[in-house]
Order: sequence, then C-alpha cells, then structure tokens
Amino acid sequence: MQLDRGLVLAEAKYGHRDNKGHYKPDKRVGYPPIFVWPLKPVSALVWIFSIPGYFLPWNLFYVFVGLISWFYLSPPLEAYADFNLEIFLIAFARNSFLVGLYFGAFHFRLYVQRAQELEFKFNPRWPSNKSKQFMFGNQNLDNITLTFASGVTIWTGFEVGILWFASNDYISVINAKENLFYFIAMVFLVHLWRDLHFYLIHRLIHFEPLYSLAHRVHHKNVNPGPWSGLAMHPIEHLFYFSCALLYLFVPFHPAFIIITLVHAGLSPAPGHAGFERIKTAENKSFDSDSYAHYLHHKYFECNYADGIMPLDRWFGTFHDGSEEAQERLRKRLKEKTTKVRS
Ligand SMILES: [Zn+2]
Ligand SMILES: [Zn+2]
Repeated sequence: MQLDRGLVLAEAKYGHRDNKGHYKPDKRVGYPPIFVWPLKPVSALVWIFSIPGYFLPWNLFYVFVGLISWFYLSPPLEAYADFNLEIFLIAFARNSFLVGLYFGAFHFRLYVQRAQELEFKFNPRWPSNKSKQFMFGNQNLDNITLTFASGVTIWTGFEVGILWFASNDYISVINAKENLFYFIAMVFLVHLWRDLHFYLIHRLIHFEPLYSLAHRVHHKNVNPGPWSGLAMHPIEHLFYFSCALLYLFVPFHPAFIIITLVHAGLSPAPGHAGFERIKTAENKSFDSDSYAHYLHHKYFECNYADGIMPLDRWFGTFHDGSEEAQERLRKRLKEKTTKVRS
C-alpha cells in the first residue's frame, strides 16, 4: 500500500510502517516496575505518581467520573430498595450520557474530523461501512448498537442489582468518613481488580463454545475504532461487567460499584482507539495505551490482560510487539494445533 511520505516522516520519531502500510511503534509493550523481583520500591513509587503512571492520566479520571456519578448523578441509596423502572432509566440515561460523550469524543476527533488523518493509526484503512460481517453492513453502526442496546443495559443492570442488595442490607456498605483508610485503599486496588478480572474472563471466553457463541462478535473488529471497545455479545457483557460482583463479598462504599463499572464501561474507548498516539497539537501527542490490546485484536492468542499485572508474561501469552514475540506466538500456536490433532 502506497502511503504519503509526509505521514511516514511525521511518525518516524515513534515508529515505522511495514510493507503493507501498517504502523508499528518502535516501543515495546512493557509492564510497570511493581510486580518485579527483586523489588524496586523507589521505581514503583515514582511510577504510581508519575504521568503516565498508575493513576494518571486514565485511572484517576475513571475514579473521578465514578465519584461525580455517584454523588451528583445518582438517586440516594434508599431509592434503589425496590426494583423500579424509573431508577433503572435514570442510571441508564447517566451511563449512556457518559458513554456517548467519551466514546463519541474519541470517535469524532479521530474518525469523523480525522484530525490527524492516518498519523499513528495502526491499520492504514478506515473501518468498513460495507461489510457483511457487521450488522447493517457497517462497523460503526454495529458497534454503537451493541454498545448501547446490550453493553450499557447490562452495565446498568449490574449497578441497579447490586445497589438493591446494598439498600436492603443484604450486603455491607461502609461509611467513607469512618473508614477513610479503607476507602483510599480501594481507590488504589480497584484498578488491579479490574486487571485481574478482565484477564480471567477474557481467557475463559477464548475457550469454545464461549468463543464462537459470544467473543467472536468482539473479534470481528480486527481494525478497531473507539466504538469497538464495548461492541460485545450480551453473554460477553455479562462476563465483562461481572467485575462488580466483587461487592457482594467485600464491604464497600456505594461509590465503588459505580467507579468499578465506569472503569469497565469507559476504559475500552482509548483502548480500542486504533491509534497508538493521539495528537493534541502539531508536535504534541500522548500515548493512548492501546498497543497491547491492538496486538490482541490482530493476533488473537496473546495479551489477554491490559496492563498493570504481568499476567500474560506469567502465563506465557505476552506479545511485546517485537519480531521475537511474533516468532514465539507462531511456535505456540503450532504446538497447540499439533496437540489438538494428535
Ligand atoms: Zn478488544
Ligand atoms: Zn479476545
């Protein structure tokens, strides 16, 4: 594929194009210095508070949106005590608003305005609006329909359901002022829980029959855009948002059910941006943190987790984007096929 020379030059500081025109970052996917041996306490502490780091820019943003959603955009806990359509619709409207705004902003900037054209876009083609694979023959329409009709509905169902348990005293709820240390500890740990949960359910849905039945729908997006993030089969949404079930077993502040679900609901937007870097000005751009998951969409059997805990490295499914990692993947898949056949 012939690409504009200006584009190749503009990207040269961060990556290059292969002979099919696909953008490959020079950086390697890596893990932060926290789950390492020997321990590196100073590096870990620096990473937690640096930008980019554990909290900034993404995780703290989701905590912030979750807190605003609970304290300013939700009915009081008592209102969740009966199952009623009004509460569901209020929560559904708020979640839809967040999704529309957040996913829509990435999509509008990168795919409608095409503000940086193909600069840093992994796949040199734009998502298809003429493909029989997708509902309505259009990737974006298919993705948006699945996101709202199934994704936001099931997300809201988990929220309303768990808060119903809490408001009826079937599960324990903590008071933030009386348990400040615990509250802050949860702000630290919620992202690790999401990471672990996502890895576990993601590996599970890669097994048959769950893959063919459900996860295949998400993997149709080999050239993902922001809306591909929550484009899943309803069965996958049930697994995906089940991260909130933690609160049936662990005492919590109600804000955390919202924070956990907001994290699950919004984080797929940058994670599926389709661009390694997002430009904010002519010579300024930031990392969308989507390379590891892009490799998962491209090669399927690698990078099931998404970042902090080195689960893929521990379980031999890590792909850092290098030729050596690609060779290891090829070997692993060959062994798997041989095993299945014998
Ligand atoms: Zn994905
Ligand atoms: Zn997958």
